[in-house]
Amino acid sequence: MYDFIILGGGILGLSTAMQLIERYPDKKMLLLEKESGPARHQSGHNSGVIHAGVYYAPGSLKSRFCLEGNRATREFCDRHAIPYEICGKLLVATSQQEMQRMQALWERTGANGLEREWLSKDQLKEREPHISGIGAIFVPSSGIVSYARVAEAMAGEFQCRGGQIRYEHHVTGIDERTGEVILSTSQGELASRYLVTCSGLMADRIVRLLGRDPGFTICPFRGEYYRLPDRHSEIVKHLIYPIPDPSMPFLGVHLTRMIDGSVTVGPNAVLAFKREGYRKGDISLIDMARMFSDPGILKVLARNLRPGLHEMKSSLWRRGYLEEVRKYCPSLTLDDLEPWPAGVRAQAVSRDGRLVDDFLFVNTRRTVNVCNAPSPAATSALPIGRHILKKVGEMVQPS
Ligand SMILES: Cc1cc2nc3c(=O)[nH]c(=O)nc-3n(C[C@H](O)[C@H](O)[C@H](O)COP(=O)(O)OP(=O)(O)OC[C@H]3O[C@@H](n4cnc5c(N)ncnc54)[C@H](O)[C@@H]3O)c2cc1C
Repeated sequence: MYDFIILGGGILGLSTAMQLIERYPDKKMLLLEKESGPARHQSGHNSGVIHAGVYYAPGSLKSRFCLEGNRATREFCDRHAIPYEICGKLLVATSQQEMQRMQALWERTGANGLEREWLSKDQLKEREPHISGIGAIFVPSSGIVSYARVAEAMAGEFQCRGGQIRYEHHVTGIDERTGEVILSTSQGELASRYLVTCSGLMADRIVRLLGRDPGFTICPFRGEYYRLPDRHSEIVKHLIYPIPDPSMPFLGVHLTRMIDGSVTVGPNAVLAFKREGYRKGDISLIDMARMFSDPGILKVLARNLRPGLHEMKSSLWRRGYLEEVRKYCPSLTLDDLEPWPAGVRAQAVSRDGRLVDDFLFVNTRRTVNVCNAPSPAATSALPIGRHILKKVGEMVQPS
């Protein structure tokens, strides 16, 4: 019998496992992951940005954890000699409408307590000669890292302290009883006093395995990227983001310097027809049938028909994708868009058709379940782990 089982070998499961074993060094702990290694889904397929906390509603968990996570991620990387760079980010306005939105973002960044600078057109040009815009906000604390590296280091620390990891263990059933939780896996049954699940794209299914109605469904949105050829590796010094459309849930196609020295363009946000479907042609009839019979997802699709079709068009038509980035980086051409692997975001959608904005947790007597953890959850992985530890503490020693 284990004291704690953690389900999910992404950055959230690993951050939680690492902090749990530090807090309860004498307890027996096991992390289960269905793939053959850590960070094989969202945590290993993302933009690698250490977010500063620009966009999130003041007072939300996202805003709090992102700010704390930005600092905590850097400290973690320093301790583990993981390369990162605080290169700063520019949010670039290219029209009068975007200038108005930029003003709103300026106020939000102020409310979130961020250091930032308002740049005129000329100041922008001075900082980034290849970028065109009529104004920009400069946020110095944004950075870049490989979250796969961070996740691997967390796995190493968990194991060094005596934690066990079993890969290729797919959890297929959960039975919460008095005093224990029984897990059925592809390799047999396991028992634990407590369970923490950080299952990303499968979060609603895990809550269902617990016999609960989650009240939300995970909607998978594929984020497709391109990579710029090596000759463009110096094209920008900062991360370059458009001013996001507040009616859209994602940040818009950006130019991201990666920690390996390359520059990516993306990601867009297209509805994926398979939960872990990384290629355009990936389809799961079961996932599609469930998605298209879900009242919440149908409402989201109906409300976002136009932007959804636009994203689909730019996914299928490279020139359309190029136009998105040429708005602020006009020198790029079609030949500059080289293939790069996509990621799939897990976004919870409520039954009434809202994209759940904040991080969401569902707890039962013996389990804590992460149910909505989209970006900036990689940046926020350490504070999210701390938050879960607090919840576990309340379960272990109820007041
Ligand atoms: C395209 C894209 C770009 C992003 N960019 C950024 C960024 O720049 N900065 C940032 O902070 N965040 C970013 N994010 C968000 C960030 O990557 C995620 O929020 C974070 O990785 C979530 O971590 P996780 O551990 O919850 O999920 P995951 O990494 O998806 O891990 C969940 C794990 O659970 C396992 N699992 C699921 N079900 C089972 C089961 N039944 N049995 C066993 N194992 C199971 C899965 O195999 C998986 O490994 C981005 C995400 C995407 C997709």
